[in-house]
Amino acid sequence: MYFIGVDIGGMSVKAGLVDEKGNILLKDTAVTRARASAEEIVADIAALVKKVVEAGGIHLSELGGIGVGSPGSVDDAAGVIRYSCNINFERTPIVALLGDALGVKNVKVSNDANCAALGETMFGAGRGAKNSVTVTLGTGVGTGIVVDGRLLTGNRSAGAEGGHVIIKAGGEKCGCGKRGCFEAYASATALMSRTARAVERHPESLLAQVAKERGIDGKTAFIAAKQGDKTAKRVVNDYIRYVGIGLVGFANVFYPEVFIIGGGISKEGDALILPLKEFVKKNAYGAEFNPPIDVVAATLGNDAGIIGAAALAM
Ligand SMILES: [Zn+2]
Repeated sequence: MYFIGVDIGGMSVKAGLVDEKGNILLKDTAVTRARASAEEIVADIAALVKKVVEAGGIHLSELGGIGVGSPGSVDDAAGVIRYSCNINFERTPIVALLGDALGVKNVKVSNDANCAALGETMFGAGRGAKNSVTVTLGTGVGTGIVVDGRLLTGNRSAGAEGGHVIIKAGGEKCGCGKRGCFEAYASATALMSRTARAVERHPESLLAQVAKERGIDGKTAFIAAKQGDKTAKRVVNDYIRYVGIGLVGFANVFYPEVFIIGGGISKEGDALILPLKEFVKKNAYGAEFNPPIDVVAATLGNDAGIIGAAALAM
């Protein structure tokens, strides 16, 4: 059985032909005409899906289904994209529009973070897990929660926004306008501003030197910490502690088999993953009696969106 996964982005739409084991057999992309009408954008997506299906040498009627991942706020059950910051979607009934355009009955939609979580859980880093929490450490912090093999999204899919769980009352300002959100401590953006502050306070540190040589990004503190710099180690340890506090909160509510860490920062590998695993083990409620919780880095990279969207329709 074959499925189509569609990953809508602000710049481009990707579509892939995916088998039931989560392998992408082929994929193609089209430019997102973000300022066109929603109907025109959906027509572009339908044309892209047709192209991929034809290239795969099969017919639309042979598809098991089509899954769509979209940025923004999505009502999964209604099949509607409520809005998307960068794309001209507003209460767009994408499931009905795409289904009608292609004559395919099984069409599903969800938020892109949820799709990535489902893809990683079924076919990526969490393969075999029935319960997982995927945390994407990027510009913001996205979370996707899988319980008993299904996405948990709350009423009208408005939940699963773990990035905005408040971990510190009156804390750092978050992009959402509130204070003290997990995202304001665990995003790559937060790590960069912490790094910048430490550089200012400790101009004599190796961290300051590394920052001067290569600029400040999510890697800067990790690079200097690996060389033994005390200032950098403090930045990294603080950052990991904050990420860990978020994970422990999710562990106490969902008790997943595995945490899957994605996003740019996850490329730090063991330097990030091992201390997080230790932190969760030490601090999750009842962890000494309960089954262990694994912490792993995401493995599907940019394909997680396509694979996870296809998985929605499986
Ligand atoms: Zn927030």
